[in-house]
Amino acid sequence: MTLSEVLMWDQLKQRKMSGFHFSRQKPIDHYIVDFYSAELQLAIEIDGDMHYRKNIQIKDKKRQRRLESFGIHFLRFKNREVEHKMENVLDTIESWIEGLPPCPSREGNEEEPTPCPSREGNEEEPTPCPSREGNEEKALIFDIKRFAIHDGPGIRVTVFFKGCPLECWWCHNPESRSPKPQIVVREQKVNGRTFKVEELVGKEISVNHLMQEIRKESVFMEESGGGVTFSGGEPLLQPEFLIEVMKQCREHGIHTAIDTTGYASRKVVEDVMNWSDLFLYDLKHLDEDMHKKFTGVSNRTILENLKLLYDAGKNIVIRFPVIPGVNDDKAHIDAVRSYLKNNFPRIRRLDLLPYHNIARHKYESFSIPDKMRSVKEPQHEDLEKLKAAFEEADLEVSIGG
Ligand code: SF4
Repeated sequence: MTLSEVLMWDQLKQRKMSGFHFSRQKPIDHYIVDFYSAELQLAIEIDGDMHYRKNIQIKDKKRQRRLESFGIHFLRFKNREVEHKMENVLDTIESWIEGLPPCPSREGNEEEPTPCPSREGNEEEPTPCPSREGNEEKALIFDIKRFAIHDGPGIRVTVFFKGCPLECWWCHNPESRSPKPQIVVREQKVNGRTFKVEELVGKEISVNHLMQEIRKESVFMEESGGGVTFSGGEPLLQPEFLIEVMKQCREHGIHTAIDTTGYASRKVVEDVMNWSDLFLYDLKHLDEDMHKKFTGVSNRTILENLKLLYDAGKNIVIRFPVIPGVNDDKAHIDAVRSYLKNNFPRIRRLDLLPYHNIARHKYESFSIPDKMRSVKEPQHEDLEKLKAAFEEADLEVSIGG
């Protein structure tokens, strides 16, 4: 052990640190941490002089990220701090411990802390303390899609939030509409026989858990310039959770995008807008009556929020669902082109999202009326014409996002 490690160990061993047990040179995953408390899920690292070198710092960072993905927290100190300013080091550790919400097993027993029941006898595999998980923001989601390539730049993780304020006639995500978990019955064929199977759609997820899921794909996201996209449903219906996850993504250098209907209060949009790197913003119809008829809500709030984001200098990609007979006629396409050109000249990109009917078979399970039974999916050549029309307005256009 180095001198600083000897001094630190002297302060941590035999439950001297607020009664918590620490191990020395603890192997976790493929790594060894200097000091570790399973009760606190806290690793303490002492960085010697060699840790000031850039290549070592990069390795330290990678190692720390990996272990943080298990819910482990880190405190790092320089060897000189430990050798010359031990009081400050101990203050920092104690303050960190005091900042924890009480674990149920410790409540009312502050003098003699005992291990959190979820962790006792399981020091090798840290799991989050239930009391801390309970205090975290949670959201209702219905899917997490990995390796998504149509929801923003690069390879992405797309998180689908449950709950949508719109009722689009052509809804391609009927699972997302209700803001509550739902049990649906699906038919499944096995050896020619049909069985009815119940399935729960929607589950609560904590910020911690979601971050772990997102960070499993760090390598692909980093290599491809990707990130995470929050979609739905409408992610802005669960803003506190969304902001917390986006803050953590930013801390870890993960690009974020919100795929939104734009139908949210001004306050929510103002609160989230500085945490998202990109907005994938739906524009369904410019005519208010048509918008109301086909989505159930006015487009006024949506257009106002688009202006709010644009004026704040946010990075926006317009997403235009191509719905035959609803918004793809020449007059409306011309109106959208002029609207974008005159009001949002800095917006450079538009994605055409062709109507498809592959979600139709789910409508019955989710008690959604099928109002577009007779509508056919747009032909490739029609989409190419629309693409050319928007390109004339100096937009970069892609079909399908
Ligand atoms: S905005 Fe999307 S999820 Fe919501 S109703 Fe429309 S298509 Fe469905």
